[in-house]
Amino acid sequence: GQAALLGPAEVRALAAEFDIRPTKQLGQNFVHDGNTVRKIVAVSGVTRDDVVLEVGPGLGSLTLALLDVVDRVVAVEIDPKLAARLPTTVAERAPELSGRLDVVLEDAMKVMPSQVPAEPTALVANLPYNVAVPVLLHLFAEFPSLRTALVMVQAEVADRLAAQPGNKIYGVPSVKACFFGRVRRAGAVGRQVFWPEPKIESGLVRIDRFEEAPWSLDAEHRKRVFAVVDAAFAQRRKTLRAALATWAGSPAEAERRLVAAGIEPSARGEVLDAAAFVRLANVE
Ligand code: SAM
Repeated sequence: GQAALLGPAEVRALAAEFDIRPTKQLGQNFVHDGNTVRKIVAVSGVTRDDVVLEVGPGLGSLTLALLDVVDRVVAVEIDPKLAARLPTTVAERAPELSGRLDVVLEDAMKVMPSQVPAEPTALVANLPYNVAVPVLLHLFAEFPSLRTALVMVQAEVADRLAAQPGNKIYGVPSVKACFFGRVRRAGAVGRQVFWPEPKIESGLVRIDRFEEAPWSLDAEHRKRVFAVVDAAFAQRRKTLRAALATWAGSPAEAERRLVAAGIEPSARGEVLDAAAFVRLANVE
């Protein structure tokens, strides 16, 4: 079936009906273009069997396109007005698909598996831009069932997430995303498909979790690795020997650990891939 997707008139009518004034703080820019949401669903690669976690369904543009393809969508929305309206929007436009949707009123930075009625296998979301990276990392950390993600974020953040070592925009988000799996840019989206129109371009990023993880993804290990990543980039112009002195206890101890991990102490953090950070975090 094909749900009737939301166009410009429907998006404005829905917002007016419930007196929804998009807030910048919650990153509320709603997509009013059917081709864009269909493209997002296609690039995500989700199929019938997936349970999709959608963050920030808003007025339901992407939700309707997802419900056309998968049997179950769990939508996590922080705005009570939007969360309350979503089931009605779906019932009005695609009544036969209504039973496939669960809405959870919660902050996606805090949501945990116990609050969600099924184990999500894929994250597909037009993320609120100001919290996109922390939401993405939180969900990959706390929902081990997530095997893939396709997210729309601001273009600059998409570039940063998918950047390779040595690139000047390579940094904390790039390494942390790579800790969980393979990360790549998956397309661009212009400003004109949103209401209200944002000032910046958007981009798609896809993350596929490692099928066989090259290192432990458990919480304790993740925290240890992320601590050294944060330390290395906190002073990104310094050599690793200097930048990691506090983390290690002294410059000499930083040097010892770097050498033990096979890393040149005079290098900078921006040249290290995720595997090197994992080795460094694990030096005895
Ligand atoms: N998916 C819709 C679309 O494509 O039209 C809306 C996307 S809009 C960029 C971001 C949505 O995320 C808004 O509905 C906003 O209320 C919601 N949101 C913002 N912060 C959130 C958070 N921390 N947790 C869950 N939802 C959030």
